[in-house]
Amino acid sequence: MARYVFITGGVVSSLGKGLASAALGALLQARGYSVRLRKLDPYLNVDPGTMSPFEHGEVFVTDDGAETDLDLGHYERFTGVAARNTDSISSGRVYTNVLEKERRGDYLGKTIQVIPHVTNEIKDFINIGDDEVDFMLCEIGGTVGDIEGLPFFEAIRQFAQDKPRGECIFMHLTLLPYIAASGELKTKPTQHSVKELRMIGLQPDVLVCRSEQPIPTKEREKIALFCNVHKDSVIAAPDLKSIYEAPIAYHREGLDQAVLDAFGINAAPQPNLAIWNDVADRVFNPEGEVKVAIVGKYVQLEDAYKSIAEALTHGGMANRVRVKIEWVDAEQFDDKDPTPFLQGYHAILVPGGFGERGTEGKIKAAQFARTKNVPYLGICLGMQMAVIEAARNLAGIASAGSEEFDHEAGGKRFEPVVYHLKEWVQGNHKIRRKETDNKGGTMRLGAYSATLSEGSKVAEIYGSTQIEERHRHRYEVDTKYRDQLEKCGLKFSGMSPDGRLPEIVEAIDHPWYIGVQFHPELKSKPFDPAPLFKDFIRAAKDNSRLV
Ligand code: GLN
Repeated sequence: MARYVFITGGVVSSLGKGLASAALGALLQARGYSVRLRKLDPYLNVDPGTMSPFEHGEVFVTDDGAETDLDLGHYERFTGVAARNTDSISSGRVYTNVLEKERRGDYLGKTIQVIPHVTNEIKDFINIGDDEVDFMLCEIGGTVGDIEGLPFFEAIRQFAQDKPRGECIFMHLTLLPYIAASGELKTKPTQHSVKELRMIGLQPDVLVCRSEQPIPTKEREKIALFCNVHKDSVIAAPDLKSIYEAPIAYHREGLDQAVLDAFGINAAPQPNLAIWNDVADRVFNPEGEVKVAIVGKYVQLEDAYKSIAEALTHGGMANRVRVKIEWVDAEQFDDKDPTPFLQGYHAILVPGGFGERGTEGKIKAAQFARTKNVPYLGICLGMQMAVIEAARNLAGIASAGSEEFDHEAGGKRFEPVVYHLKEWVQGNHKIRRKETDNKGGTMRLGAYSATLSEGSKVAEIYGSTQIEERHRHRYEVDTKYRDQLEKCGLKFSGMSPDGRLPEIVEAIDHPWYIGVQFHPELKSKPFDPAPLFKDFIRAAKDNSRLV
């Protein structure tokens, strides 16, 4: 049976609940416990898959093909536990399940209500895998008081009530604003937030207070008194220079101890923080710096490429360099020479994306990297752009393009070097898609194997010819052009096991030019960087000595 920590937030959003949850997971692991983290999101989308990155940041894809919240990326990066489809749920999914059951007649003629039907659905979800781990950490999205969050708060209240006493605790994140004029940290918003929680039957056991300043004893005592928590369970969460400091910083503030105390666990082993000390040492003591340009479309919102930015940082840590990421909007040079925008970077990365906007700029960035010998990593759309670039500029297919852009614009303008995949194999299953399919959840999603060519650069980087990486796309490079492109030096060095789908391309006469149809950033960890990112930054570092 797992013990449950429910993590809620108040006062304002973006307090770093996801990070606090992930850091707590890492600390419990460091004490020898097994953990799983889960996110419950009150919004009405069935999953974030159909939301624009501008709305929601990156969509994090799990091995089993779920499109989830980016917080699941934090969870994986800090705990190394691969998230599953059953670790992310939204109101949209809950209501879809309830309404499907209602249509099937599962409720035997009952009136369907938020309590108990919706809350039961949420409770069943929370309970999945109860016997697999020591601790289940469940984060509720949004802030207390949100109308749409109410069924979730009610469900966790009931859940804790249903379980034997002492198996569930509540941790609440709040903000202590600092008023410069009076030089004070204000506790009132925290008091109000806890009052709001208590009104719906939830008493927090641990309070995590974000503040720019250390919390003076007087304020700590005041919070403890007014919020009905133990003084040692008021945990300060100061602003950090790097998120990878979080486990150590939270341990220093006593978070894991407060959680164990709340459960009444007295004999927990001391944490082994060696991994996190090493991670922090690598973050804070780099021996140099490399500058990497991410040439994309969603560059105003860095969360849109969260895992890529983190994976680059991990690659930097492995090579003991700081990675300075600069976000370059591809649209700026759709119809211009990209040189003024791209020169001076030690490496160029073109990330995933959807739709035609900015793609001519990305194709130019691929060409710039190829012809100027700048290390290039193309991810998903970034690989497709590299292939189109080579088709146009090396193989002489002047109108090479992707069917995605023709579908969007209507009409046929491009020779489809990248085409819409309608049928493929996953494990033992054949999957079929139509143009008219729903947008949600219908891409090639989740982990797929790839076979790498012996002697290729990627086989050397991975140290293997069999890999598994996560996908999220509708379109594929057409093998019809393989011979033509390989003759020009763009090798198809990774293929799906049935040989039908190109997974990796690499330019042979280039120091480092690789395109991958999958998302290697999703599996990267600070203590176990994704091989491609590690080597990409090594190449950037080599290049920085030349530039
Ligand atoms: N839009 C492209 C496709 O669907 C690429 C997707 C991506 O980069 N994730 O194939």
